[in-house]
Amino acid sequence: MFLNVKRVELGDRLRVLLGGGGNSLVFVHGQDAFVTDVKMGDYALKLRREVEEELGRTVQRVMLTHAHFDHAGGLWAFPGVAVVLVHPTARARLEAKGVKARFVEVEREVELVLGGETVRVLNVGSGHTDGDLVAYFPGRKLLVAGDLFQGWHGPHVVDGDGGDIARLEETTRRLLELDVERIVPGHGELTDRAPLIRTAAYLTELRERVADAKGKGLSEDETAKGVQLEGYADLGDFFGLDSREKNVRRMYKALP
Ligand SMILES: [Zn+2]
Repeated sequence: MFLNVKRVELGDRLRVLLGGGGNSLVFVHGQDAFVTDVKMGDYALKLRREVEEELGRTVQRVMLTHAHFDHAGGLWAFPGVAVVLVHPTARARLEAKGVKARFVEVEREVELVLGGETVRVLNVGSGHTDGDLVAYFPGRKLLVAGDLFQGWHGPHVVDGDGGDIARLEETTRRLLELDVERIVPGHGELTDRAPLIRTAAYLTELRERVADAKGKGLSEDETAKGVQLEGYADLGDFFGLDSREKNVRRMYKALP
């Protein structure tokens, strides 16, 4: 799932490369290409070769959705890139690991016009980590969500990197406010809005039920036992790397 790269063409200027680490989007304009997330290891080189040899373009701008290795680890394969758009917190995490690039920080939003088309790179909130960005193509109603959203695979929070499930709920709600019909999740297949709506509902019910249990004085263990969210069997546990119980326990700790 993570390692086989699958290509999806979205018109002549846009393609999505699913897998090989996190999903990537390639948008070509003139002789240049704008790429979101650069995969990891040799998949980064394959991504670059595809842009250079198949599309005949040069990667000039990269946007990193966050600092995780499977999304940003491939920067080594793009030494000539003019600009790497990144959230300040993600930049700090990368630089702490010795990663060097021509970083440009996006704390809230930057609007690019590439080949006449508007691309908004923005932080509507974080939650998967403490430094998440998305790319929004309003003219196409297309969103590149990074690991803030995982389609039907269910939400994924990384506690050690500043992830916060209560913030993820707020961020998911804000993503829903965007006029979006097609979404590139961090991993897995392209989706429409349906799993985003379901994920938001799941996170809200999670918060409400955990708040209710906490309000009644239940312990974390009792809450984890009692809050099952059985109505969300259509949402996965992020490839078995996450679980409902972990989410309940995270929310328990996150709520006042
Ligand atoms: Zn991640």
